Amino acid sequence: MKSFRIEVPSIQNWSCHGCTACCRDLTIELSDEEQRRIQAQNWSPADGVDPATMLVNEKGRVRLGHQSDGACVFLDAAGRCRIHTRFGEAAKPRACRLFPLTLHPVGKKLVVGVRFSCPSAAANSGSPLAAQMAALHALAGLVVPDGFAEYPAPAILRAAGLDWPDFMRFVSWLDKTMAAPNQPVALKLRRALHWLAAVEKAGFDHISGREADEILGVLSQNAAAELAAAPGPPPSPMGRLLFRTLVFGYARRDYIRDLKGGARFRARKLGAMLQMVRGAGCVPDLIPGLPPAEFTAIEKSFGPLSPGADATLTRFFRVKIQSVHFCGRAFYGAPLIEGFQSLALLFPVILWLGRWQAAAEKRSSISDADIERAISLVDHHHGYSPILAGAWSRRRVRLLARRDDISRLCAAYAG
Ligand code: SF4
Repeated sequence: MKSFRIEVPSIQNWSCHGCTACCRDLTIELSDEEQRRIQAQNWSPADGVDPATMLVNEKGRVRLGHQSDGACVFLDAAGRCRIHTRFGEAAKPRACRLFPLTLHPVGKKLVVGVRFSCPSAAANSGSPLAAQMAALHALAGLVVPDGFAEYPAPAILRAAGLDWPDFMRFVSWLDKTMAAPNQPVALKLRRALHWLAAVEKAGFDHISGREADEILGVLSQNAAAELAAAPGPPPSPMGRLLFRTLVFGYARRDYIRDLKGGARFRARKLGAMLQMVRGAGCVPDLIPGLPPAEFTAIEKSFGPLSPGADATLTRFFRVKIQSVHFCGRAFYGAPLIEGFQSLALLFPVILWLGRWQAAAEKRSSISDADIERAISLVDHHHGYSPILAGAWSRRRVRLLARRDDISRLCAAYAG
């Protein structure tokens, strides 16, 4: 593989702490080579693995099998991976080796991010990513095909055309907006949405060079001056309805054992979706282990976020921006503006799920742990859910943006 420069978010730490959440939550699809490799490892019932069920072929796609409780067939009773224990880390499937790291080609470099669905990543627990360059270079060989040159940069608005350095000017200004000190994360997201809307309105999606930096600098300064911390008008009723359907998309967990329920499972999901659309009574049973709560209890104010929760959310959004994990190939092919609008929508979704946890436990404030858990739930899907990749999901983002409901939702759930 050609050698790539690797960039990591300096604000993010991560090490695996062996909680096994990923061994229970992920569906691991295998390439032909991985199937052959695992079959050649000669697993037997004496090792705790039944070779007849360790690989599952579903409509031509082969994945690792699951135990009756949904855990990976290779997870042993002590919470260790049997493949790793017997053959070493490099013998595991690529998806297991990479998780929760993401490596995306950006021109002639690779940018690294993390999936906050790993609780250690959400908690910023472990070694700085910047101190793990040797391991990251080894993993880079797994994601960059032989002979790879570079992908074109995504579009800013509709039509692609900028080269990577000019595309990254927009990314850099988004990161600067989110890095502003002593400002609440919701306000920083609203400012970024504000200046991106100005880019769209003025047709500045093809600006380049030093002139682009000057224009984006002025637009972001204007956004900071024009947008006060005051929440402004509330979201529209239609915005709230569309938002609840988005929460449904991010909160649902469809395990393979549930999908086997066929028509009954689908009917239950449809009922839950209709309940979210109605938005009255009790929230449907969407998340295992999360007790029921009333919609009205979730919609009341829980006060401002703690400084710790605000810092966690700021780190989450900055890592997604720095690793370009919100648009292009890393996010359903979305242009930068639409991808950032989708990313900003995660703020009210996370706050809604955090409120749900607090309301279910009859608390009047959201804890830092509520926010970390909600971020983990949401980032399980971000960029990986086929449901959120569809045409309807993208249209929903555009409808919310057109009414300024994304910014209004960020403000409404900030306190
Ligand atoms: S979820 Fe994270 S900490 Fe837990 S086993 Fe997986 S990679 Fe390790």
